[in-house]
Amino acid sequence: MTAFRSIKTEALVMGSMRLGDADRIVRLYTRERGRVSAVAKGVRRALSRIGGRLEPFSVVHVVLHPGRSLYTVTGVETIRAMAEMREALFRIEAGGRLMEAASRLLAGEESNPGAFNLLVRTVGRLARAQDAAEAQLVEVSGVAKLILLQGFAPELTCCVSCGRETDLVAFSPGDGGAVCGACLSSSAPHGREAGGECLHAFRTLLECPLGELPRDLLEEELVMQVGRLARHIIREHAM
Ligand SMILES: [Zn+2]
Repeated sequence: MTAFRSIKTEALVMGSMRLGDADRIVRLYTRERGRVSAVAKGVRRALSRIGGRLEPFSVVHVVLHPGRSLYTVTGVETIRAMAEMREALFRIEAGGRLMEAASRLLAGEESNPGAFNLLVRTVGRLARAQDAAEAQLVEVSGVAKLILLQGFAPELTCCVSCGRETDLVAFSPGDGGAVCGACLSSSAPHGREAGGECLHAFRTLLECPLGELPRDLLEEELVMQVGRLARHIIREHAM
């Protein structure tokens, strides 16, 4: 927040919290400035025009006025309301997990248009998910792609310790990749049980374009395992 000039930018609403009786603090992921928080004044009044446009997961054009520590929202126009996101609990939950991962992986105020586009595309695909399993598939794929984008991509095709390409039985978040059976038994027990199937599923979710993710791409249990693996990677590398 250097120049005290208003900024106009596209933004994805990540979430919000109450501030006093009438205001809210909204968390935004903006195309121009990355992750920022902004005060939206008077949004809890019934007829607020700004408030109705700052629902979680909506994509908007915002005008932000910089203040001492937070921005203030002075204008909002809806680009995509993403109303479907808020119509089913499983979409809200998957979207919430995606936003949590994004908050950890993406630094505060730092422009990252690639991350902005990826988040908007993932939310757009989540809005079409028909059940919890499909929503989880989309969410985990989006998080895996975000991990790759941020440069924390794990080595999944060979052992990080000896380079062997077979018998990959575990995953070490600390070393950033797969570990083979021989190295696992001879090294410190920091490897996470992942198994070849889980490592392969991680790769599939990384490589398959979001728009083409078939809902029956992978078994639900396997997607859940990849999700856990992704959270380990985030804990190990991100803020
Ligand atoms: Zn090895």
